[in-house]
Amino acid sequence: MKTEHESKWAGRRLTQAQSNPFAYTDSNKRYYTYDYYLKRTFGGKCAKIPLDAGFTCPNIDGRCGTGGCIYCSGRGSGDFAREASVPLREQYELTRAALSSKWDTTRCIPYFQAHTNTYAPLAVLKEKYEEALTFPGVVGMNIATRADCLPRDTVAYLGALSQRTVLTVELGLQSCHDDTAARINRGHTWKQFLEGYHRLREDGAPILRCVHLIFGLPGEDDEAMLETVRRVAALRPDQVKIHLLHVLRGTVLGDMYERGEYEPLSRERYISLVARALTLLPPETVIGRLTGDGMAEALLAPDWSRRKVTVLNDIDKLMVENRWVQGIYADEILKK
Ligand code: SF4
Repeated sequence: MKTEHESKWAGRRLTQAQSNPFAYTDSNKRYYTYDYYLKRTFGGKCAKIPLDAGFTCPNIDGRCGTGGCIYCSGRGSGDFAREASVPLREQYELTRAALSSKWDTTRCIPYFQAHTNTYAPLAVLKEKYEEALTFPGVVGMNIATRADCLPRDTVAYLGALSQRTVLTVELGLQSCHDDTAARINRGHTWKQFLEGYHRLREDGAPILRCVHLIFGLPGEDDEAMLETVRRVAALRPDQVKIHLLHVLRGTVLGDMYERGEYEPLSRERYISLVARALTLLPPETVIGRLTGDGMAEALLAPDWSRRKVTVLNDIDKLMVENRWVQGIYADEILKK
């Protein structure tokens, strides 16, 4: 028997978008893109404005480690934000003005991105987040942090905040494997990640949870990476971001690479891994990213990652060739 989708288009010459059987899309993408989520949630594209609020990280200042994750740039993943010495409102306005020549910036989402954005006393956090809510055009807020930096008072406040705006908390997991976490000096375990992840929803507040993963971490084979995807899929996160591990000059990983101790993923392997990962993630999980943005001038490898659009296109092609859509193999995982 034909599916409703097949019956609708039977006998016609179809574009890839029309023949796409995936439910959460209005294009040729066979996964739930962030753009599609923005359209459904806010009525159209939104500009995400990266901010550096001047926080540090417990994996740098000694609370749980020093030196940081081996791939961490000095800016704590906030390389596209303005310097923390620039007042928050000014950072927001400068970036919004810069983006407005290319994009519609009517709707904006301030993104507390650099370092660990819940790693400060609650009074300090409140001051920064409340200020950001008053910026013109704000429709939501994203806060990037570590799952081991979510004390109960902070989570209670975030819960209240999520009643006032569309709040997404982005948690760096990277890998579910504790031996990998130790190898990359991550400073927390899978168990600690789970505690923070679940605490965010303990009181039923509508905080959206986004989980970051990295493919290509030292010592991981395909099965290890896909096992992380399966475990995360079982948690049914609201959003997932998949990053390619970028080797940046001046990092511990950069030194390893230059000594020949680390080999980055090939383009073909990354594309295959991402496409397979998509088949395992729940169809309702928004895919926030499928590649990372490394700082071009500091990027040592992989060089192929500079051509991001072609990578995304080849992920699409592989999905079509295999008749894959997001979540096609997720049922078994979600039943558990
Ligand atoms: S948790 Fe983030 S900010 Fe902290 S060391 Fe790791 S990458 Fe850098």
